[in-house]
Amino acid sequence: MKFSNSYIHLGDLFYEKINPQTVTNPEIFLWNEALADELNIQDSQQLAQFFSGNRILPGSEPLALAYAGHQFGNFVPQLGDGRAHLLGEVIDQNGNRKDIQLKGSGQTRFSRNGDGRCAFGPAIREFIMSEAMYALGISTTRSLAVTTTGETVFRETPQPGAVITRVASSHLRVGTFQYFAAQGNYQAIEKLCDYAIDRHYPELKEAGDQRFQELLKAVIDRQTRLVVEWLRVGFIHGVMNTDNTSIAGETIDYGPCAMLGVYDHKTVYSSIDVQGRYAFGNQPTIAQWNMARLAETLLPLIHAEEQKSIEIASSLVDEFSERFQTRYITMMAAKTGFSDPEENDYQLVSEFQNLLEEKQLDYTITFNALTRSLSSEQAQQHMRNVAGDWYNRWINRMDELQENRSDIQKSMQQVNPVVIPRNHHVENVINTCIQTRDAQAANEFIDVLKSPYAETIATGLYQDAPTNGDMGYKTFCGT
Ligand code: AMP
Ligand code: MG
Repeated sequence: MKFSNSYIHLGDLFYEKINPQTVTNPEIFLWNEALADELNIQDSQQLAQFFSGNRILPGSEPLALAYAGHQFGNFVPQLGDGRAHLLGEVIDQNGNRKDIQLKGSGQTRFSRNGDGRCAFGPAIREFIMSEAMYALGISTTRSLAVTTTGETVFRETPQPGAVITRVASSHLRVGTFQYFAAQGNYQAIEKLCDYAIDRHYPELKEAGDQRFQELLKAVIDRQTRLVVEWLRVGFIHGVMNTDNTSIAGETIDYGPCAMLGVYDHKTVYSSIDVQGRYAFGNQPTIAQWNMARLAETLLPLIHAEEQKSIEIASSLVDEFSERFQTRYITMMAAKTGFSDPEENDYQLVSEFQNLLEEKQLDYTITFNALTRSLSSEQAQQHMRNVAGDWYNRWINRMDELQENRSDIQKSMQQVNPVVIPRNHHVENVINTCIQTRDAQAANEFIDVLKSPYAETIATGLYQDAPTNGDMGYKTFCGT
């Protein structure tokens, strides 16, 4: 592994230089072989030492990054990595720069009252969920390893401790910009903008004084794409605070996330989200709100005249809705079999969504059945039972289209997953791992989740909806 650390050159206002705290008995529990290969990590007896933070890899200069953030709408001027260490950056086999970060690796200047540690369960959860999202084709941070520490962490109950190794395109967040804006340090924000452009939006390098507004536009664009993708598979992030909003447009921070079962926009699973701020259907609104917070941090750079700046930034933030809406209806049409919809087809698409909601149907199972119904009698019967008249109109319309049924089905299969990391299976697997201290259950599950659009022999074990429809299911922040 060859480190090449660029963040460190931004200067020490941006981080604290600090090594991870050592642990007593590190052991690799989950290991992502394919990702390790991409990162050119050689097999070694020392992996557990390196990915627990006990030993520092050559070339690594560990940092805890500074950032602020709006948490559930309330601004906190200083958060920062309170239990994470950026080991450094490496260039992967595709030539992309990746951050390698340990989480649960001990206290830093930003820990406030926290212990700097991570419990085993949430670490397994982040590994499973982020790798599932990756396989679904959604922009996300990834997980290289879960390393148990041999130590106990105290939450509501004592739990085994773990360190998770996260791989990200960067850890620049909206909250990083807010940290400096709160201090009125616009020199630092300009540096951050140039760093972000260099790393994520190199095409904007030529934009001169326009680069700040162009960066805002580009980040907004990636956020709209990301949220549309979340809605496509039924992902509920659960804690879309501005410190959990990546400038690179990746899904980041898998604390209380969950998957939608029954189609209902009001679905919330996070135990602390009592107002439903981060409900499934609220995610586009919140992403736009987060983009408005980013825009605010850039105002003094966008234009010398404040009024002009506000006008430019507001119009960019306002465009979020339209960009989102266009992509969203295209995506929902594709899920419903229309790759090139005509005006009337959108009506059929939205009627189906209403039907799902009214009849409280399972999102993934129903779209999968709709897809299969193009070739399977049994699935067709199922769809007639749940969607009678609508289904007859739909199948007639499918037969009117230029494409033949098998081509339509192929397109639908690309956007409608057969299997997702369903909440009850995620919980079962985590519990089994904690009880047995054996990774087999997790690895078998992850293997299936690696091909979410294809039916394999084992897929059927994980496709079922929970018998109670996820009633009362609660998730917790990743502590
Ligand atoms: P998160 O909920 O993981 O996005 O974390 C929000 C903030 O709380 C970040 O600044 C974290 O570093 C900090 N934090 C969360 N858990 C801990 C912990 N156990 N010890 C120290 N800081 C923590
Ligand atoms: Mg966070």
